[in-house]
Formats: sequence, C-alpha cells, structure tokens
Amino acid sequence: MARNLKDELVFVPLGGVGEIGMNMGAYGFGPASSRKWIVVDCGVTFAGPHQPGIELIMADPTFLEENADDVLALILTHSHEDHYGAVLDLWPDFDRPVFATPFTAAMLAAKRASDNIIDNVAITLMRPGKPFTLGPFTVEAINVAHSIPESNALLITTPIGRVLHTGDWKLDPTPVGGAPTDFARLAAIGAEGGPLALICDSTNALKDGISPSESDVAKVLEEMIAAAPHRVAVTTFASNVGRVISVARAAHKAGRQVVMSGRAMHRISGIARELGMMEGLPPFLDQDMFRTLPRDKIVLLCTGSQGEPRASIARIARGEHPAIDLNAGDRVIFSSWAIPGNEREVIDIQNLLLDRGIDVITRDHGLVHVTGHPRREELKRLYDWVKPQVLVPVHGEPVHLKAHAKLGRDSGIPTVLEARNGDMVRLFPEPMNFPGEVRVGELYLDGTILCTPDESGVRGRRRLSFGGHVGVSLCVAANGQVVSGPEISIEGLPEVEDDDESLAIVIKRTVSGTLKSIPPKRRSDTEMVSAALGKAIRGEVNAFWGKKPNVTIFVHRV
Ligand SMILES: [Zn+2]
Ligand SMILES: [Zn+2]
Repeated sequence: MARNLKDELVFVPLGGVGEIGMNMGAYGFGPASSRKWIVVDCGVTFAGPHQPGIELIMADPTFLEENADDVLALILTHSHEDHYGAVLDLWPDFDRPVFATPFTAAMLAAKRASDNIIDNVAITLMRPGKPFTLGPFTVEAINVAHSIPESNALLITTPIGRVLHTGDWKLDPTPVGGAPTDFARLAAIGAEGGPLALICDSTNALKDGISPSESDVAKVLEEMIAAAPHRVAVTTFASNVGRVISVARAAHKAGRQVVMSGRAMHRISGIARELGMMEGLPPFLDQDMFRTLPRDKIVLLCTGSQGEPRASIARIARGEHPAIDLNAGDRVIFSSWAIPGNEREVIDIQNLLLDRGIDVITRDHGLVHVTGHPRREELKRLYDWVKPQVLVPVHGEPVHLKAHAKLGRDSGIPTVLEARNGDMVRLFPEPMNFPGEVRVGELYLDGTILCTPDESGVRGRRRLSFGGHVGVSLCVAANGQVVSGPEISIEGLPEVEDDDESLAIVIKRTVSGTLKSIPPKRRSDTEMVSAALGKAIRGEVNAFWGKKPNVTIFVHRV
C-alpha cells in the first residue's frame, strides 16, 4: 500500500475508558481528512438504582455514524456483556461485518434467539493465528486466558505501526477448558520489532503479584465438594465455562451428579458442549431431577451469584423455588465475587441461607473464585514481551487507569497516554492525546426504546420515586362555579394518620380552601386556578410531610 506522509494511526475510545463497562473503541488509519475505521467491542453497562427502569446502558455511537462510510468492521474480543452486549442494538444499522470466534458467534446467536431480536448482523468467523485484512489494517487474534472461553487480544498492523489491543486477559498458564495465553506469540511480537502501541486492561492495576490460576480454584472446589456431608450448591457466572467444568469434574470425582438450574447457565453450557468444550463430562441433569437424588449424591450448579432477585439461588434462599430446596447442613459455595453495586443483594441472600442453617462458603473462606484480569506482575511481563513504545491504559475507572499509567512509566515505556472516552489518541507518528475531540455519551435501553439520558424519562422517574404524585381534576363553568370534581388522586405518599390528620385530608382541605379563596369571576381563568392549586398543595404537603410531591392539576372549562 502506498504510504502517505500524512497517514496517522489513531485510537478513539467511545466507552470503557474511565469506567468499567460498555467497552467500545475505534482505530483509524489514514490522513485526518480520510480515515478508515475498525471498531473493537460493543458492550453494555448495567443500570444502577439511580437509573430506575433502564435495562442497559451503552456507548453513544454518533462518532461512528458520522463516519459510517469509512467504518469497515466490528471485531469482538470476547462475549462478556461489557464487550458484546450492545452489538444487536447498535450494529445492525452499520451493515458491516462482525468478526468473532466460534464461541462468541454462538453466544450472539443464542442471545438473539432468546431475546427474540429481529435485527441481525453478519458474522465472519475469526481464529487465533489466522490474520485477516480490512482495508489498511491486518488483524490477528491471539488467544488469552480470561474468565470466559475464547478471549482474544488483537494485533492490529498498519503501514506505520502496530497496536496490541489486549482485551480482557490474564496470564494463567493452567486455565480450565481452554488454551492458555499464547506466551510464545506475545514474545514474538516484541522480537519482531517495529513500533507498537499497547492498549491494555487496567482492571487489576492496583493489585500486586500474579493472579492465581483457574486450576487452583478447581482444586479448592474439589476439596470442598468432596468434604461436604450433604448437598452442595455452587453459584457462579454462567459464562465462566471453565468454572462450570471444574465443578462438574469435582462432582464426578466425588460420585455426585450435576443438576443445573438457571436459563443462562443452560444456554451457555449448551453452547460449550456443542463446541466440544465439555468432552468427557456426563450430561447435566435438569432441575426437575433435584428431588429424586440422594442428598450426598448431588451438586447443584445455579445462577444468581450477583444477587439477582429472580435467579435460582435467590429463589432457593427465600424458599420459593419450585423444584429445589436446601436444608440445614447443606452447603452453598459462592464461586464468584460481587460486582460493585451488587454487594448488598448478595449478602442478603447469604444471610437468608445462613439463618436456615446452610453452610455458606465465599471468597473469605478459600480460593473459590479468581479474577480474569492481570495483576501488576502480569502487566510487567507483558511489557517485557511486547516492548511497547506507547501505552494507553483502558478498561478501568480513573483510579485503575492512573495506577496502570504509573506502572507503565515506572517500567520504562517511553510514552504513556492517559486517555478518556471521547479523546482522539494519535498512536503513530508522534504519539499524542487530543482530549475531548469526539462526541461521546451514553444511550439508555428503556424497554424497547434506545435514547439519550436527556431524552429518557429517568429524571422524572427519580423525582416521582422521591416525592410521589398528587393529581387534581375539576371542571369550572363560565360563571366560575365548580360543576364537577375536584377529583383527587394520590400515588406514593405516606398514608399515616396523626391526630385525625393525614396527607389525604390535608390535600382535600387545601384544594377546597384554595378554590373558595378565588372569587368565582376569576375561576374561569383555568391557568391561574391550576397554578394556585399546585402551589398550595406543594406548600401544605411540605408543612405536613417535610417534602414536596409532584403535582398535576387539570382544570377544564365547560
Ligand atoms: Zn471480560
Ligand atoms: Zn471486560
């Protein structure tokens, strides 16, 4: 390909840099006026309690839409929701191929089927070690260990420089149910020479040492399952196929059968089995078999490790599961950690189980879970292998990104660029960050509607959740007489009575008092009546309750 002196290789993070979640980034190549783009990952974040009613949050793709003609493809590193959860919502409009490994492709197809999504995307399968070309880019997937099958780093080669986009990874030389990180290939990248930028996972940049292996967890689970006197239930992330395999192997060794409960767990294990990842393991039994098996011959694998109220372990803890019950002396292993924001729900479930005499085992009792992200020594080893000229820490909150940037500088990487979503990061030539060059933001998925936070009704919903709502409706004749109503509706206000006073009584009295105080001649001014009623209700309710409700007044002229 002919080289243009104005060619630049740039990286534009649209999501996931400055936060953990909704990862999406674009790599551009060419002169500023005519760049070609490839997009890496298209993920979601789960909404928190301050976004009531919102299902999912994803990165605003406006920048890509503005360059749609020059966007060549989307490449998925792996099928965690924070990397691929928005594909079916955002990508169909681009009408460009999606590159994914067989497991990720199968996960996407299964999600589409289970959510009845009509829109589709065209998948092109990619495999580690088989590079493919997209315009000026050559892309090679490199297998890395993580907490889901087929996680990949991407080596992106252009005429003026290369990028290693790590995706989510850890070193783990002994993972379960998948290949280890391809050390040899990574080391070869450094030996090949030529300028390289490293765009790297920062999740565990605050943690010293090397993260334990998935095989270490397998050993601990094996001991805990073998030593359990009665039933054992294990809850973990449904997508952690390696963990599911470890539990199944441990059960098999202990002469126990595996019963599986939870839709996501069935779906993902089904995909893994179809792709040959569970060879040698007996089939998992459905939850209906649970009550037919002796207590010491069973291991239950179930969903709900994040405290989701409708998932299996929550329903079991509440004693509401139709097919499964646990008793005193049974054991529940939380082979997981609570993602920040979910801790309370998880602890509530553990408390319910403990109060029923069930033995609860968490990370506090032993190595029953391990991270899928690199700690500091792992990051340093990667720097040694690939010898980057430029480091851009990604996949982290500012606290993780800062720590990662310092580690990179202390390790002697010549240029460390601390980027955030919306920056234009020039990687080569002359690496430099141009902050805030690109429009970024969030999109909310609310039911079936995709909208910006401003367009969403979330602010109003939050207001309603704090103050409730009072509605008043009445009809006034031309002579000012109230001919129907006032009808009053009250929603979400306290109903306590105090000395024969209640909010309902206060509101009723305020409405009739306010109407009486307006001379009949002036009552035909419906706007004035509405305003007076609204002000009076808010004031009187505030005097009684200490809070102002949301008020809607309808005054009709007849
Ligand atoms: Zn991941
Ligand atoms: Zn991730």
